[in-house]
Amino acid sequence: MAVNNNLQQEFVKKWRDNAYGCFTSGHKFCREVCPVTQVTRNENHTPTAFHANIVAMEQGALSIEDIAQDYVNCTMCGACELRCPNTLFTGDFYRHRTQTVKVVKAMRALAVQSGIEQPNWKRWVEATVDKKSEPVLDVPINQDNVAAWAKGLDLPIGGETILFCDCEAAFYRTSVPRATAMLLKKAGIKFGLMREQWCCGGPAAEMGYTDHARVFAEHNLADWRAVGAKRIIVLDPHDYITFTEDYPEYFGEDFDIELVYITELVADLIRRKKLKLTKPIKRVVTYHDPCRLNKRKGIFESPREILRSIPGLTFKDVDHVTQWSYCSGAGGGFAVERPKIAEEISRRRLAKAAELEVDTLVSACVWSERPLSARGRELKPKVEVRDLMELVAESAGLDYGGVKV
Ligand code: SF4
Ligand code: SF4
Repeated sequence: MAVNNNLQQEFVKKWRDNAYGCFTSGHKFCREVCPVTQVTRNENHTPTAFHANIVAMEQGALSIEDIAQDYVNCTMCGACELRCPNTLFTGDFYRHRTQTVKVVKAMRALAVQSGIEQPNWKRWVEATVDKKSEPVLDVPINQDNVAAWAKGLDLPIGGETILFCDCEAAFYRTSVPRATAMLLKKAGIKFGLMREQWCCGGPAAEMGYTDHARVFAEHNLADWRAVGAKRIIVLDPHDYITFTEDYPEYFGEDFDIELVYITELVADLIRRKKLKLTKPIKRVVTYHDPCRLNKRKGIFESPREILRSIPGLTFKDVDHVTQWSYCSGAGGGFAVERPKIAEEISRRRLAKAAELEVDTLVSACVWSERPLSARGRELKPKVEVRDLMELVAESAGLDYGGVKV
């Protein structure tokens, strides 16, 4: 297959400065924190290689065909960017920040545009479109049951504030949106659901299918506008990244929607005593920082503040946050193409929790809960994985129901 050289040249022009920033410094600190490199120890999977390849492309030594496969090996956790001295030190001086996640995403998009596709990503995106714009999971899905999780909660459609319920939550772990919606109602927050909610488009964009991602985004923004929404409450870090980073890129200044992450909102409601947590929960827990929330969006205080306000709970924190926090392996479409490596990353995450002698790992990311729960069940003694909102609802005395897998 002939690769489109113009596309490749445009790509190199756009990313060469970023790549040279990495290539010429050679610190390689990023490897210590890269969850994929930690498992595979493969030079081609390092953030260093992801940048160096662009230099090689500029020199005519490599083309996208040679390296497209390597760029599957990234969960887009953002740890390498934070650990990189170009961000930490010289960033202040040269106003340079390493942007590995964007480089990986752009390289994956270049691959798709060049006709080079990964089989499982291709199948995933095609099936998502076929299944009425909702991602493929292990349960029957379509637009008719996108809001089935809300049965009996009497939630209106539309309004100024919309709750966007992640697909994994809507179809798989329905206890999370049910707990969240009941908490919001109890605190007196007025909110509604979309008329027709499609996938946020984040996974398709991460797999390189930018055109598909845009179609989902355009649909969702049009739906928000049609129901008069001004504010979206988001309960999954993957949606949050997509809405705060991809949507402004797609729509520019026209994107005037306020985005509120659920942990920030709930921490505030507890602080203002709009939500009272009265029922003690006798568990020993640690917290799983979702990469997109912590490393990429800098939100790590509010989940901890919430955990500390739950009576009866013993909270054992991890020793480091930001670049050192542990990845679940679930992000960036990585688990779709590399399930075994993703599984090992989750297993290592649970081993870290077990070192703290906890009975529960609390997460604030629905997407990581399925793989983490599976690994937690393997341990002896077992470590149960719960979503933060489930625990808050329980402590607020709410019987939320739904499925917890
Ligand atoms: S990303 Fe940063 S830490 Fe990693 S090799 Fe490049 S310059 Fe070094
Ligand atoms: S974003 Fe995460 S998985 Fe990807 S290269 Fe950086 S550290 Fe590794």
